Amino acid sequence: MQKWVYSFGADANDGRADMRNLLGGKGANLAEMASIGLPVPPGFTITTEVCTAYYDNGSKYPEDLDAQLRTALKTVEDHVGLKFGDTEKPLLVSVRSGARVSMPGMMDTVLNLGLNDDTVQGLEKASGDARFAWDSYRRFIQMYGSVVLGVDHHRFEEIIENAKLDAGVNEDTALSPDHWRQVVAEYKDMVQQEKGAPFPMDPHEQLWGAITAVFGSWMNPRANTYRRLHDIPATWGTAVNVQAMVFGNMGQDCATGVCFTRDPSTGENIFYGEFLVNAQGEDVVAGIRTPQPLSKLRAEPGEVSMEEALPSAYADLVAVRETLEKHYLDMQDIEFTVQQNKLYMLQTRNGKRTAAASLRIAVEMAEAGVIDKVEAIKRVSPASLDQLLHPTLDPKAPRKLLSKGLPASPGAASGVAVFNSDEAEMRAAKGEAVILVRIETSPEDIHGMHAAKGIVTTRGGMTSHAAVVARGMGRPCVSGAGAISVDYGAQTLTASGHTVRAGEVITLDGATGEVFIGSVAMIEPSLSGDFAKLMEWADGVRRMGVRTNAETPLDAETARKFGAEGIGLSRTEHMFFDPARIGAVRQMIMATDTAGRKAALDKLLPFQRQDFADLFRIMAGLPVTIRLLDPPLHEFLPHRDEELAELAETIGTDLETMRRRASELAEANPMLGHRGCRLGISYPEIYEMQARAIFEGALDAKKAAGEAPIPEIMIPLIATRRELEITRAQVDKTAKAVFAERGDTIEYLVGTMIELPRAAMMAEQIAEIADFFSFGTNDLTQTVFGLSRDDAGRFLPDYVSQGILPKDPFVTLDIDGVGRMVRLAADGARTTKPKLKMGICGEHGGDPASIAFCEEVGLDYVSCSPYRVPVARLAAAQAALGVGVDRTA
Ligand code: PEP
Ligand code: MG
Repeated sequence: MQKWVYSFGADANDGRADMRNLLGGKGANLAEMASIGLPVPPGFTITTEVCTAYYDNGSKYPEDLDAQLRTALKTVEDHVGLKFGDTEKPLLVSVRSGARVSMPGMMDTVLNLGLNDDTVQGLEKASGDARFAWDSYRRFIQMYGSVVLGVDHHRFEEIIENAKLDAGVNEDTALSPDHWRQVVAEYKDMVQQEKGAPFPMDPHEQLWGAITAVFGSWMNPRANTYRRLHDIPATWGTAVNVQAMVFGNMGQDCATGVCFTRDPSTGENIFYGEFLVNAQGEDVVAGIRTPQPLSKLRAEPGEVSMEEALPSAYADLVAVRETLEKHYLDMQDIEFTVQQNKLYMLQTRNGKRTAAASLRIAVEMAEAGVIDKVEAIKRVSPASLDQLLHPTLDPKAPRKLLSKGLPASPGAASGVAVFNSDEAEMRAAKGEAVILVRIETSPEDIHGMHAAKGIVTTRGGMTSHAAVVARGMGRPCVSGAGAISVDYGAQTLTASGHTVRAGEVITLDGATGEVFIGSVAMIEPSLSGDFAKLMEWADGVRRMGVRTNAETPLDAETARKFGAEGIGLSRTEHMFFDPARIGAVRQMIMATDTAGRKAALDKLLPFQRQDFADLFRIMAGLPVTIRLLDPPLHEFLPHRDEELAELAETIGTDLETMRRRASELAEANPMLGHRGCRLGISYPEIYEMQARAIFEGALDAKKAAGEAPIPEIMIPLIATRRELEITRAQVDKTAKAVFAERGDTIEYLVGTMIELPRAAMMAEQIAEIADFFSFGTNDLTQTVFGLSRDDAGRFLPDYVSQGILPKDPFVTLDIDGVGRMVRLAADGARTTKPKLKMGICGEHGGDPASIAFCEEVGLDYVSCSPYRVPVARLAAAQAALGVGVDRTA
């Protein structure tokens, strides 16, 4: 018989933390906490396999599930001495979803399940508190009504608002038991009207309704969107947790709260969280009452900390904090309830944290000996380092403060204010930087939050939806900016007498909680402290080198600062667009004979020589790969008639000749046309000039620094051995000539990019001529897929959303296809030259999953844009430690 139901917290404790695939994260950790002796209200978990079976069998449950559920429920009843549906001492339960990873967008929680017109009497008697009993009942009808029955929650709120008006009070808490009785009656009538059926009174029917709602929510559109954004397969399914209720709302000795064992924004080792006296879980999240801090140290004037309000439960919680960190060896995110001064744990999981916090926690835990350095390296997600490399506001820059909220997720961002998520997504797709401004966010806003550069909410605390999701996504966020009023209708936000309309620029600082009018200057991040430490540890374990793709001195310097160990790709064509040279470039292109071309190239030579000398100086002692001209020549020509006429004048010809030459150069399929080494074959003088500039620049740099650089000259778009043979011979000939003229020599390498399928297939032969290979995976992806790099953006998203491709193959290497081609080429090359130096310089060189693949294939280095260098250093270290691409996590 298959086991569908796992008990926890009672005498039976069937689960463990490592059973999260089966029990979901929540269920597995409840069982784990119970097994290490923490106070967990008893309950049971219905496994994710039930979810999968339910969907596989046309929304039908396994036959023996009901019997297993009843047995588990009985265990709970026996343990707490209450009975489900009993009119004297009723057991009430909570029903919660719990997937393998926490997933906003699904049905979250139904509390107080098991209440009906009879059991509420029992609860009233047992608790001796009519107000509590009837308030619990109305909360149950409200939650069950909206999340299970699908009644609009506004309908419930209207009834409460009216009740408060009638009673002449402002606060829910001021309503009497009789008011709540009346509210309950009105709720039931309203539900009957809305649904055409009475609110279910049978506790078992209620329980199955809630369980089915959880399983149903696994496939709702919000959950689907979230899964798509986070690469979570639908086949995982969710578990359902049914747990005996404990009450945080039975009086002043009761409370409920959420906390992190360390500060999730900064990583600081302090207890961090919020709680509310006399409240249930949803009150903390809803933001109606202001949650209070846990520790006295953190309390502002006017706030009452848990340490002061409930000292004994607080002491228990502090002990639990220690136990949990020691047990899980990681920062935990905890939910708890205090019922009559007794602490109960409702959840623990590894806490979501900002990149800065993740780094600090990993480094501090390693330094404290809790985990080792290798574990610390594995703990930090390379992609998240991006967040740390982003600018913050320049403290000296002028700014105009609009308002202040909570510093919910660090980083600074400027953009146009936008008030709804669809619009945020639309404007971002057009390339606009947007700041999403909402009163509060819900799982329906995920796509807008993802598209936005930053998020501002006027309601909600540090653990509100906006704060948690923004931190996870690495978006700066200011939450709970209560002094800002947002008018969705008028599309404005107003604070301190100033109104900002949709489309006007605002800036936020997620580290301070400030929101500014207009844009504010930003500064580069500091890369010292924990960051430097972790990078040093990572460098100690990685095998592959990390270089950068750079052609300007600024980029090269930035990359050096980030730890680049040389240049892996310098695209020389970028140097041609400089206003001082483009004239000579165009003259070269327009020339109809070799002499004309040479004259123009002579003008370019000194510029290029200087370009290379600069790079050699910045990268002193490190390899510098310079790629000879790659793009088709017409890319350098002006397009408009006036520009053509102007050019004609400077080079002494007429507009007609210019037009003719331009149309001669035009190609139907330029990316597969006259480009790459094909230019060097047709116009050897171009590559000759570039080679000369490289050798002269290198000799200049040698003279200036006393240390010779080692240029690695790279020929693009090779398809055949012969192409490389011819172009290499030109380079070698130029080297000889320059060395003879200068009476000095340097070492240099000549290699090629492998970016065409033919080159990959013929690598064995091509390697005979090459000193190194560099995989140009941008072009290789384009040519292996037969997919235009420049046009794919229009339809690739459809491929990804329909699951035809798991990811955009221009971002993450298609390991199955393009990767196979890379492997083939690497293996082929090694049969000719076992030690041939090989690297990658396509965009994939900065993508962690692709870097893991490069390690597998045994490449010597990866090369990526300057800002990706730290990402690549950490990713290469993780790859060396065998952290592969986890496709299922
Ligand atoms: C490549 O094709 O991967 C490459 C690095 O060159 P480019 O992007 O300049 O074509
Ligand atoms: Mg290329």
